Amino acid sequence: RVVVVGSFNVDHVWRVAELPRPGETLSGEYRTGPGGKGFNQATAAARAGAATAFVCALGEDAGGQLARALATADGIDLRDLPGRAPTGTAGIYVGGDGRNSIVIGPGANAELSPAFVEGQGDAVAAAGAVLAQLESPVAAVETAFRLARAAGATTLLNPAPADALAPASLLALADIVTPNESEFAAQLRRHAGEAVAAEALGQLDDDALHAHCRRLLPHGTVVVTLGAQGCFVSHAGVCLRGDAHARYRVPAAPVRAVDTTGAGDAFNGALAASLALRPHAAFVEHVRYANRYAGLSTERPGAAAAMPRDAEVRARFGG
Ligand code: ADP
Repeated sequence: RVVVVGSFNVDHVWRVAELPRPGETLSGEYRTGPGGKGFNQATAAARAGAATAFVCALGEDAGGQLARALATADGIDLRDLPGRAPTGTAGIYVGGDGRNSIVIGPGANAELSPAFVEGQGDAVAAAGAVLAQLESPVAAVETAFRLARAAGATTLLNPAPADALAPASLLALADIVTPNESEFAAQLRRHAGEAVAAEALGQLDDDALHAHCRRLLPHGTVVVTLGAQGCFVSHAGVCLRGDAHARYRVPAAPVRAVDTTGAGDAFNGALAASLALRPHAAFVEHVRYANRYAGLSTERPGAAAAMPRDAEVRARFGG
């Protein structure tokens, strides 16, 4: 079983030729759909084959109803705190060059409380892996990780978005941290006082990357996702479960990417699912699966909607 603690948003997306400048009014092609890193990752974990509970806060509105309907359709055990605020929203402009500008209204997501998470102890007690991001209150995530630790579950922190703070007290409760390049650069700046540009990380050799990872999370495993380059894995000291090396790269799956939105969410959900489903496999096997899963998700448009099923991943890549 996987427990995901995180956000649900209703995404409002406009495609525009150019991103709007201050004072400008534009028209663009509009679509709306589910989003939020928590929900995307829960959907990925469920479709990757793990029994999945999603702990979140929803408004008493159409957005909340949408979340409930989608969770039911994917067999997700939804544990939602009924919020006073409206369901979280995101306003997204996507320019012709693929760049975007995003404003998030956390809404009900900001109301997720330690007390409510505490009440989900039965789900956490049955979990092999507990996965969270930084779109929910840190105190709620810390409560989930403390319960997970007490139950012997693996804790995974996806420190996203990059501009959100992951305090040292939260990192201390994480067994595995999974930043992308910009999130890694942001966390290094905060926690290790290292000014490394996100673009420069891709140029670093394995020794240098490993050293940065060790500074960020001395006690645990860091998986830095590198887009089309796959990812870099850095373990603390002795190797985990049969892995031969403390650091290694795992190449991305050969895919034809059309939309990488939510690729990181796919990776995290699949990694948590694999850890929970195959607790005795070597860590590198989980990462290989997560790369394949996330790779396949980039061949389809959308975030949650693009998450493939485990059978599709196996049919495509074997295993
Ligand atoms: P984020 O979506 O958070 O920016 P990344 O871009 O690092 O995260 O992507 C996460 C994972 O998705 C990668 O580690 C890789 O497994 C997969 N992925 C992303 N882009 C591609 C791509 N172009 N080709 C193959 N796999 C990809």
